[in-house]
Amino acid sequence: MISVIIPCFNEQESIPYFYDEITKVSNQMNEYDFEYIFIDDGSKDKTIDKLIELSQKDTRVKYISFSRNFGKESAIFAGLENSKGDYVVIMDADLQDPPALLPEMMNLIKNEEYDSVATRRVSRKGEPLIRSFFARMFYKIINRISDTDIVDGARDFRLMTRQMVDAILDMKEYNRFSKGIFGWVGFNTKWLEYENVERVAGETKWSFWKLFKYSLEAITAFSILPLQIASVLGVLLSIIAFIMVVFIVIRALIFGDPVSGWPSLMSVIVMIGGIQLLTIGILGNYLAKTYLETKKRPIYIVKNKNI
Ligand code: UDP
Ligand code: MG
Repeated sequence: MISVIIPCFNEQESIPYFYDEITKVSNQMNEYDFEYIFIDDGSKDKTIDKLIELSQKDTRVKYISFSRNFGKESAIFAGLENSKGDYVVIMDADLQDPPALLPEMMNLIKNEEYDSVATRRVSRKGEPLIRSFFARMFYKIINRISDTDIVDGARDFRLMTRQMVDAILDMKEYNRFSKGIFGWVGFNTKWLEYENVERVAGETKWSFWKLFKYSLEAITAFSILPLQIASVLGVLLSIIAFIMVVFIVIRALIFGDPVSGWPSLMSVIVMIGGIQLLTIGILGNYLAKTYLETKKRPIYIVKNKNI
């Protein structure tokens, strides 16, 4: 059995298109059973009505509806937790992850002993330039500073074996960055590449600001380098301070000690103050994440489901 997980946030326009496509593909792959798990991530439109309607005429359609918008990561987690399939695939509702690739992905897992088939888009066609620019920068930085491999252009569109899904479910962290989690659990992954496809209907749910916060989350979740920077800066400044002390003592012994050097003193104070605030800020960021993790809040809250 293959479980298809579809996070949906205000997708009333896309769902009918998606359902048509996925049933076409399932009919081609008639040697497998299917379940479609739609996660309604606190949509404000008629998404849930569409899902209930579909589930009444097709028993493969399962839905889980959240009490509010918890974000795509939570939706993915809910889908994985409730999936029963031997294979699980995650897809967007907007057909940007073409269901038509599924047979090929399944073949790779069956015949070539991969545990997972993931996809990455090689172009960012149809995306605002500035957004592409920041996305590229983000991937450069995160790969420099994190031991986990996070692939540029990787989508969440991915087929996995049950074994890998269970490994992911064992990671119960509250700050979920799936692209990192997939890499962290390991396993043999085959990457398929394809050109970016534009969404069939509706609009993107990611504002620039939402993406920016998401990228900071990724950095705190998968790298502790920013924390280490603080100690490196501390050591560097201590060395500089030591050299300065020696220099000033010798100069005072030779030339006496007239009152001067107020501007240089000020710049040193301001610089060190700045660096201290920066490192406290970094510490605070990690502390905040730890604080949220220790509360052990649920990753999502279900309001309504048929699973
Ligand atoms: N999505 C979600 N919760 C959110 C934002 C998005 O479940 O808070 C879903 C959305 O319905 C879609 C998928 O995640 O199925 C990808 O979102 P979108 O297409 O807006 O992102 P983009 O493709 O533009 O990166
Ligand atoms: Mg999309």
